[in-house]
Amino acid sequence: MEKNKYGKELDVAVKVVQMACSLCKTVQKGLISGSFNQVKSKNDDSPVTVADWSVQATVSWMLCEYFGSESVSIIAEEDVQALSEPDSEGLLGMVVTTVNEALAKAPIYGLNGPGKALMAPQVLEAISRCNSSGGPVGKHWVLDPVDGTLGFVRGDQYAIALALIDDGKVVIGILGCPNYPLEKESLNYHDNGLHKFSSSSTSEVGCVIYTSKGSGEAWMQPLIHGNEGLQGPNCAKLIKVSAIDDPALATFCESVEGANTNHSFTAGLANGVGLRNKPLRVHSMVKYAAIARGDAEIYMKFARGGYKEKIWDHAAGVLIVQEAGGVVTDAGGRPLNFSRGMYLEGLDRGIVACSGVKLHEKIIGAVYASWDSSNL
Ligand SMILES: [Mg+2]
Repeated sequence: MEKNKYGKELDVAVKVVQMACSLCKTVQKGLISGSFNQVKSKNDDSPVTVADWSVQATVSWMLCEYFGSESVSIIAEEDVQALSEPDSEGLLGMVVTTVNEALAKAPIYGLNGPGKALMAPQVLEAISRCNSSGGPVGKHWVLDPVDGTLGFVRGDQYAIALALIDDGKVVIGILGCPNYPLEKESLNYHDNGLHKFSSSSTSEVGCVIYTSKGSGEAWMQPLIHGNEGLQGPNCAKLIKVSAIDDPALATFCESVEGANTNHSFTAGLANGVGLRNKPLRVHSMVKYAAIARGDAEIYMKFARGGYKEKIWDHAAGVLIVQEAGGVVTDAGGRPLNFSRGMYLEGLDRGIVACSGVKLHEKIIGAVYASWDSSNL
């Protein structure tokens, strides 16, 4: 790939994700303090908040501004249905305010905002235009405005995931991780049955991780705060996967919630492969960030029967892990296919992301050995 083929897209997208991180931090603070207490439930019972819609509107507006509203194709998680219900006026008002507050800060991130505040119909339009169905031809942006909304409402880990697909291939990936500490040393492991982490109070928290396909590099920026503006490329650090290839020393990540994944199957698999460390259970695509940055070595996800993985839950994270030196495939060892619309169609059983080929081969082998005895 030409090195800067997607240079403009990457530049704008990283800045937009920085903006979105700041927006989310503000809303999360409000949620925890009780001033932003509107959490809605979607059809699948997953929560959705002011932040989900506000990030989607903000990112959509910015991408249209920079790449032309006529030609931009965006596939994103949220729609305006719940926002348009008769009892949602207050909620919509909060979204409009939140979006305008975020857009007003655009210059801090080196972006141009709108000349004047957006009205409710413009905000709804920005959200609802993200209804592309993707596919194998052309450029499509893929957005999960808040990945891990449950972690978000709990004050825990969540991510903003933005990727660009060109002719069916993921070509850039950005993960905003507003609560993920910059240094591994500042991750505190709590061993209360779960093996979770939280950040220590002294460390700087929050980062944006990004890459472009074929670069062989993944980068991490700290979050931009207040008026200090963009801090220049010196502030971005190269990240790399872990060099550990001995299963006895490796750590694997999995989802906190069991609803869309199967913890007992991964536990059996981990045992079979000789993993000794307890799993690191993390909300959201921060799991991919953890692999890319060398904080853990393996991420496995095996959905329960019937659950179909959506591309916005994986596109950015998969590319970041790959460019940071890792390997990501389905459980049959095949690459994930992002060219067939909003779902990862044809996915063989689950997703296995590893820091290196040796661990990956062992996991895939173990899947074959233990699959028949499982009840997935
Ligand atoms: Mg989401």
